[in-house]
Order: sequence, then structure tokens, then C-alpha cells
Amino acid sequence: HLSRCRDKPAGCAARVNMPQEWPKIGGVTMKFLMVGAGLSGAVIGRRMAEAGHDVTVIDSRNHVAGNCHTERDPETGVMVHVYGPHIFHTDDEAVWNYVNAFTTFMPYKNRVKSTTQGQVFSLPVNLHTINQFFGKTMRPDEARAFIEEQADTSITDPQTFEEQALRFVGPDLYEAFFKGYTEKQWGCSPTELPASILKRLPVRFNYDDNYFFHRFQGMPEHGYTPMVEAILDHPGITVSLSTPFDPAMKAEHDHIVWSGPLDGYFDYDLGRLGYRTLDFERFTASGDWQGCAVMNYGDRDVPFTRITEHKHFSPWESHEGSVLYREFSRACGPDDIPYYPIRMVDEKALLADYVARAEGQDGVTFVGRLGTYRYLDMDVTIREAMDTAQAFLTALERQSAL
Ligand code: UDP
Repeated sequence: HLSRCRDKPAGCAARVNMPQEWPKIGGVTMKFLMVGAGLSGAVIGRRMAEAGHDVTVIDSRNHVAGNCHTERDPETGVMVHVYGPHIFHTDDEAVWNYVNAFTTFMPYKNRVKSTTQGQVFSLPVNLHTINQFFGKTMRPDEARAFIEEQADTSITDPQTFEEQALRFVGPDLYEAFFKGYTEKQWGCSPTELPASILKRLPVRFNYDDNYFFHRFQGMPEHGYTPMVEAILDHPGITVSLSTPFDPAMKAEHDHIVWSGPLDGYFDYDLGRLGYRTLDFERFTASGDWQGCAVMNYGDRDVPFTRITEHKHFSPWESHEGSVLYREFSRACGPDDIPYYPIRMVDEKALLADYVARAEGQDGVTFVGRLGTYRYLDMDVTIREAMDTAQAFLTALERQSAL
């Protein structure tokens, strides 16, 4: 049974550099610079502003919310997930309460389909997928035993994506649902990727087709951008958009919270960590084009990984027109937006070098998906941001008590 687990990278902590010693402040306001107006920068900035500190948030792009930015499509009026699908799900009640304090969440369950080998299947792999794929009518225990027979049980401690797949679903399901999709998504062989990527997906021996099994799941009524704007809406916070980081800013602030790419902070001088970027090919339709929000394409010869029909992310709204994105993944060049840290098995050494450098940086804390080079979900990003802010406050209190 594949369980969904968090991406724990070798040697890359969530908070790379937590200061032990803060300047002696004695109740004085500290000046924080958040580089990046995504979830990490907004949540940490908010907490520090609430504690009376002075917070500036910059972002090189012209909007807040980072890659969970949403906006209405001008032609159809549909709320679009501009940088690809983002579904909020968590087991962390404090995180759920936090986001609900800033926006209304509407009920939403992520149900994904996959078109592969000429048929449409239900994801994540569940009893319906297994029975349909193998042309059987098995009950849960029968399916479990059947899949165990297909699995390569000689793999006892799967390290790579492929080993994880062969161990838990066997070659046929791997070939149909994971191999081609993963080659397209990551641009390399699944033998070069860590097992942790596949551990994101469950395999179910019942008919539950909810992509996530967290207690809380939903979609912000007006999209993610107003939610992040609400988090940033505090008199102690100044937001500057279209403002890239300039090293001269270091001297003007007591502490920097960096949520840009970890290697970007160091001008990539040891080499570049691998990221994937995405291209979206927009098209419109009327009515309902594909019948669901996300349709994955498992076949290798279909060049895109998935098609997103954005109106299905807001089922409480009604729009005649529909806007869809075909999603293509490719290597991230210097001028592209980084989406996914690749974390190739053989990339660990470079990552460890950057992490060591980051740990030695005074006055900078590295956070978030890009700042810690991990494949983080939104809820984990928020949890870590809350914890980082709390650790800052604890350190500052300790310092001012001296
Ligand atoms: N994956 C796959 N086939 C699918 C869906 C996912 O092989 O139909 C693999 C793929 O490698 C992907 C990973 O599982 O990158 C995690 O999938 P998830 O749906 O969590 O990806 P995200 O929505 O974050 O891109």
C-alpha cells in the first residue's frame, strides 16, 4: 500500500538558517524583508507585522500568491489557476483554521482521471481502476492479493521512482499510468527520480477516488490571490511588486526571508539545481469540454501531461464559456519560472553544498518550495511558515529578555 508521505530531502532542512543570535533590540522594531510574496512570505510577514515589526514584501512578478496565483479569464470569466492546478488539502487543523480566517473555502474534492492506452480511468489507482484495467470484478482483498502477485517483492527498500512503482503496483499499471507521464513531467527516466515523488500518490483497494485523503479539502471562493492579499493586508506590511531582489537591500534590513530558489540566492555559482518549468497552451470551448477539472494523459506519445478545465475548480459558479490549459513540462532555463525541484538522485551533492552555504549565511532564512528545494504542498508550506515565524518571535523574546 503506497502511503502519501512528505518529501524529506537529504540534508535540506525546512529552515536552513535559524538565527541563534539576534541584534539586541530591547523592544525595538526589527526590519524584515520577505523576498517573494507567495504563501511563505505572506504568512511569515503577517506574523512579524502583528508582533509589531516592520515588514517589506517584494516580488519580481506583478502579482502576489506566487505560483498559486489565480485570476479571472477575461474572455470567459472563469477563475483560472494561472500556474496550474492548486487544490488546498490538509490534515493540519491549525493550518486549515488559518486559511479560513482570510477567505471562505468552498467544498471541493479533487477527482482526477487519466486517459491512457485508449481508455479513461479513475485516479488515484483504486479498485475501479484495477478492475477496469485488468477486466476483472475483484473485491478489495482479491485485488490486494492480485496486485501483490504483480509486484516485484524482491525490492525491499525502494529508492527510485521506478522501484517504488514496481514494488507497489507492478509493471502493467506502472507502464500505463506512471512511466510515460513521469518521463514527460520530469524529463528523465523514473530510475533517476526519488521514490518520494510517487509516494505522493496513494493506491486504494476500494472505490474512493478522492485524490487526497486529508480531513480538510476545499477551494477559496474567490481564488488564492485574494486570500494572499488578505494575509498581506496589515498596516505593518509594505508590498512592492515587480521588484527584484537587490543585494543592496541586505544592508537596509535586519533579516531577510528568502523564498526564491535556493541556488538563485548564490547567483547559481556552484551550478544550477534542476527545476522543471511548465508551458500552458490555452484554448477555449463552450459548455463542458472534458467533464472534469484535471485529465491526465499517461501515454508517452501524447506530448502534454494533462489538461485542466478551470471552470470545474469553481463548481458553485456558472459560466457558458470554458477555458482549458494543455500542460507541457520542460527543463527550466535561466529565464523561466521554476515550478518543480527535480531532486535527481545524483543531484544530492550539489544540493548539500548549497544547503551548507545557506546554513552559513547570517541574517537570511530560506523557506518554501524554492528556498528549501523541496516538493511542498501548500499546507506544508504554510505550516512551516507559521513555525518559522514562531521561532523568530521566540528568538527575539529570548534576546530582548537578556
Ligand atoms: N504521476 C504519474 N501519473 C499520473 C499522476 C502522477 O506518473 O497520472 C506521478 C508523476 O511523476 C507526478 C507525481 O506522480 O509528478 C506526483 O503527482 P501529483 O499529482 O501529486 O503532481 P502535481 O499535481 O503536484 O504535479
